[in-house]
Amino acid sequence: MIDRTACEIRDENDPLRAFREDFVLPEGTIYLDGNSLGARTAGAAARAHEVVTNEWGTGLIRSWNTAGWFDLPVTLGEKISGLVGGGSGSTVVTDSTSINLFKAAAAALDIQAEDAPGRTVVLTQQENFPSDIYLLQGLTRQLGDHYEVRLVDDEVAAGLPTALTDEVALVVLSHVNYRTGRLFDMAATTEAIHAGGAAVIWDLCHSAGALEVDLAGSGADMAIGCTYKFLNGGPGAPAFIWVSGALQNRRPQPLSGWWGHARPFDMAADYTPAEGIRRFLTGTQPVLSLSVAEVGLDIFARADMAAVRSKSLELSDLFMTLAEQRLPDHPIEIVTPREHEHRGSQVSITHPEAFAVMSALIERGIIGDYREPSVLRFGLTPLYVGFTDVWDTVEALRDILDNRSWDAPRHQVRGAVT
Ligand SMILES: *Cc1c(COP(=O)(O)O)cnc(C)c1O
Repeated sequence: MIDRTACEIRDENDPLRAFREDFVLPEGTIYLDGNSLGARTAGAAARAHEVVTNEWGTGLIRSWNTAGWFDLPVTLGEKISGLVGGGSGSTVVTDSTSINLFKAAAAALDIQAEDAPGRTVVLTQQENFPSDIYLLQGLTRQLGDHYEVRLVDDEVAAGLPTALTDEVALVVLSHVNYRTGRLFDMAATTEAIHAGGAAVIWDLCHSAGALEVDLAGSGADMAIGCTYKFLNGGPGAPAFIWVSGALQNRRPQPLSGWWGHARPFDMAADYTPAEGIRRFLTGTQPVLSLSVAEVGLDIFARADMAAVRSKSLELSDLFMTLAEQRLPDHPIEIVTPREHEHRGSQVSITHPEAFAVMSALIERGIIGDYREPSVLRFGLTPLYVGFTDVWDTVEALRDILDNRSWDAPRHQVRGAVT
């Protein structure tokens, strides 16, 4: 039988234990929402102060050159690339995931129009993060409805070949489903998509920094993802875009601003796309956000992703086991897959009163989040979440369910953001 002491011993023996010092959380808080907004990095405030007072205050405009501002998207891109197996010169950190998907999908469709003409379907998951679906709908509308966005459920997407008719030009998939935590096999799925004649864009929002990713080794075409979730870049930190070397110079992307120009300071009247991944930039970059995001990436540069993944699975195994053992009489269902190869870095549990239950947990300083419909979502970030945190969370959940302490009007109040 597992008890709290057993969890404390696991924390003491945890090889990633020292990383807890790299993050700052309020006293008494168990933070299980790092898959939505990663915890504050210990170095963030000092870095922001340095950029504001010295680089901006003293360096002024000279800092575009002298403080490396101009190269930040590429500098950070290289660091992300190391985490997702992208290879050098293939990633930039810029814009939001939503905007990067627009650029990537437009370029991919343009390339497919040459390589596989006549295909008019863009396939994505019905259960994909809604912004991804909305962006694809916006893009196809912009392209005069020549293309159709077709939604398939995750089961179909996992067994893709049936959905991969010769109408499909592009498949956009989230590597890990934000709601259930279901993980796709990137290499096998990419291979199936290519065998069907389509291109693939992977959304890594819930896998970058959570598990080992091998974009180049999987033969992927393009990828996008967040830095403010598992990578702890800070609220609204810019996202990344990765494009395989073979596709980078094929077509320009449509948001062809001066930062993606081959020679931005020529101030030429015509757009000439830069060679390589820089052409996926658009306009002036948010230097403060990029600088703070780099602090998070530098923590990951010291972390062994295999160790991160194995602790993540141990944490989610423990969470699921305890939920089954200690909450047997409640109407809950664990919707995150049990098989390690199909699981990201979270545990999602349904309960008919999930919103109120999460509100009661948050009141006790245990912060997860609620996702429609009826999902209690617990993100497990191995660098700052421990086994005892999981124990305490399930115990609090047990207490809240046993005593119905979720059943109070204040736990029904919803803010603009859930
Ligand atoms: C969080 C998330 C996004 C967020 O996109 P933004 O443009 O940063 O708002 C997109 N896709 C997925 C799969 C996500 O989980």
